[in-house]
Amino acid sequence: MLRLVFNRSVSSVQKVVTRCPPGWKPCSIISLRATVVDGAIQAVPQRSLTSGDRFQVEVFDVKVRGNSGSETHRYEVRVPPGPKVLRTSSAYGHEPHRRMIVTFDQKLRRAHGRRDCVRLEAVLDAEDKDKDKDKGGTGKNVPVSVVTAGSKLYIKPTRLLGSCQELQLTLGTCHTSAAGWPAREWSKRFRTRCARLWNLGRSVEGRRIRAHVFGNGARKLLFFGGIHGDEYNTTRLMKNWSYLLEARARSLPKGVTIAVVHSINPDGLVAKRRYNARWVDLNRNFLTKNWSQATTWQHRKLSNAGGARAFSEPETRALRDLINRLKPMLSLSYHSAGRMVQSNQLPAADRWAKLYARSSGYPLNKQLPYAVTGSFADWCRERGLPALTIELSFKHIAEFKRNQTAMWQIVKQVAGGGRRTTKQKRRP
Ligand SMILES: [Zn+2]
Repeated sequence: MLRLVFNRSVSSVQKVVTRCPPGWKPCSIISLRATVVDGAIQAVPQRSLTSGDRFQVEVFDVKVRGNSGSETHRYEVRVPPGPKVLRTSSAYGHEPHRRMIVTFDQKLRRAHGRRDCVRLEAVLDAEDKDKDKDKGGTGKNVPVSVVTAGSKLYIKPTRLLGSCQELQLTLGTCHTSAAGWPAREWSKRFRTRCARLWNLGRSVEGRRIRAHVFGNGARKLLFFGGIHGDEYNTTRLMKNWSYLLEARARSLPKGVTIAVVHSINPDGLVAKRRYNARWVDLNRNFLTKNWSQATTWQHRKLSNAGGARAFSEPETRALRDLINRLKPMLSLSYHSAGRMVQSNQLPAADRWAKLYARSSGYPLNKQLPYAVTGSFADWCRERGLPALTIELSFKHIAEFKRNQTAMWQIVKQVAGGGRRTTKQKRRP
């Protein structure tokens, strides 16, 4: 209801209408029934107003007490918009045990236990439906508990969600702003995490090192970043890559398993430093023929950066154990910022490097101006495992676009049977 109060008591009004002046968009015409009550005009809309309604009210021939003339007035009426969803914590890769947080642009009035306000549904495909039946499942609806606090809704499923489960979250119109204006219906599709998380171990300072593993195929690929902690754009690149794989997890080519490690040197990442917490350059700590405690980096001699012995560091042991467990057809190790693709000089690696260089535009196999000892790539070569070292062009940009194309090329080639590679003999 609209209540129009004048500075003097109103005695009569001819009519009150709504109109849309030219150029008012959006604008809605709503019929009003006007009466005079206690010296003010009350106009009752013939349908309920909704958030975002806007119109002009024209009041014809208002007579006020003590004045014989009459006047016509116009006012703009704008119904404030209801709460709008700004962001949510739910996305592809949602952790199954985590609650979902929906943030609105304004404070909410507490919903009074209306369950239909929040609906979480498992989206079942044909295969899921069969499984659900076998388990005696109750179908699509996932029971949730909801807490409203300020501008946020906290939604927690009261039963455990499965992994790689497609979900739809729908919010009804019963959430209202503090003034009582309703939100519009809103919904979002998302999915719980499809990647398996492999714990690879912990860093010197106890930080967890993990791999995100996608797919179940026999042909395996490893991507990792951040072996040098100050090259944090490689970690960002790996995160972007795993988010993309997560979003496409259900349509990845069959026959391939992809492991992605965001950072193999989490202590260095936090400290923004090349070395791990014991000042060891992890890419000089692998057991190669040329491993040495004293190392060189860009013509600087470092007496202890190779580590006390090969594999003295938990981070390099974690990577070694992952390689032994996964047995990847190809490992891709990311650095910055030398702008190149380097093969570890096995024939198969040379072919993959060519493909990667062509697709990404990074130059192929530039020689480093200094000797590298105990490196991951050399350790792989000595074991007959193809590996690429990819150096991004800059220190601070993830360069995802150009790498993404090359990464997909590699995935597709590997999935297609790895025709471009020859089988490498692997020592146990
Ligand atoms: Zn590096």
